[in-house]
Amino acid sequence: MRIDLHAHSNVSDGTETPAGVMISAAAAGLDVVALTDHDSTDGWAQAAAAAKEEGIALVPGMEISCRTQQGISVHLLSYLHDPTHPGLLEEITKSKDARLTRAERMVTLLSEDYPLSWDDVIHHVAPGATVGRPHIADALVAAGVVADRSEAFASILTSHSRYFVQHYAPDPAIAVELVRAAGGVPVFAHPVASARGRVVGDRTYREMIDAGLLGLEIEHRDNPEAGRDYLRALAAKNGLLITGSSDYHGAGKPNRLGENLTAPGVLEMIEQLGTGTQVVRP
Ligand code: AMP
Ligand code: FE
Ligand code: FE
Ligand code: ZN
Repeated sequence: MRIDLHAHSNVSDGTETPAGVMISAAAAGLDVVALTDHDSTDGWAQAAAAAKEEGIALVPGMEISCRTQQGISVHLLSYLHDPTHPGLLEEITKSKDARLTRAERMVTLLSEDYPLSWDDVIHHVAPGATVGRPHIADALVAAGVVADRSEAFASILTSHSRYFVQHYAPDPAIAVELVRAAGGVPVFAHPVASARGRVVGDRTYREMIDAGLLGLEIEHRDNPEAGRDYLRALAAKNGLLITGSSDYHGAGKPNRLGENLTAPGVLEMIEQLGTGTQVVRP
């Protein structure tokens, strides 16, 4: 069984439609894939229909952008939550709306130095999609400013850049509570991805675990090997699930579907613990 629990479509910052991601997952030889768009579940229905056609299983999921009081960015994966849960829906709607205003602000700043307009960015955003820096990167690529998204993130769009603007994001422990309230399984995404920015310390892990965190995404290319031992010890001590995933974004990132996998027993646990919706099987 080949199980990859982290992939994005153009419902957020992936480059393929939800159906396209299912087709790519089948082509990559996966048996199970999770669709985990940023702050949105809008791709679930299309992905479910395509997964059935492709003969693979779909784990409906989402990746929630969070920020600690110390200003550290945390990504929280949620699997099998009820997408209509009012409390969770309210938080992700707030984030999604704030992302739009924030992207507009970043483009205003960028347009002072680069040939870039809001229209250029919107051109790369599917209708209703969660807007993010990758869409701004796409517009910078089209303008010939950078070669690809990776170059944009290594320079103009980093969190240290003078063009960077923050957006509203819930506290990670609150997000964990909301996911649990919605019947979902919360898993801390790429927890030690230090190249993306500062990473959290013991206190945040404690708060998230106390709030009901159920897993850690340890097998992910952005987790440096040095940080993984800490995570393995934390998982063992607190009975947390360990997942492995690609964080596929289509052509938007080098990450390939199936480059990291999750054990079948872990998926079984996720299915038992997740009560907000079900795994879609062919
Ligand atoms: P945002 O959520 O708007 O702050 O943008 C962060 C998103 O950009 C992350 O969720 C990643 O999917 C994407 N991202 C981060 N680093 C890179 C990179 N080096 N290349 C392409 N995409 C990236
Ligand atoms: Fe992303
Ligand atoms: Fe992430
Ligand atoms: Zn992701």
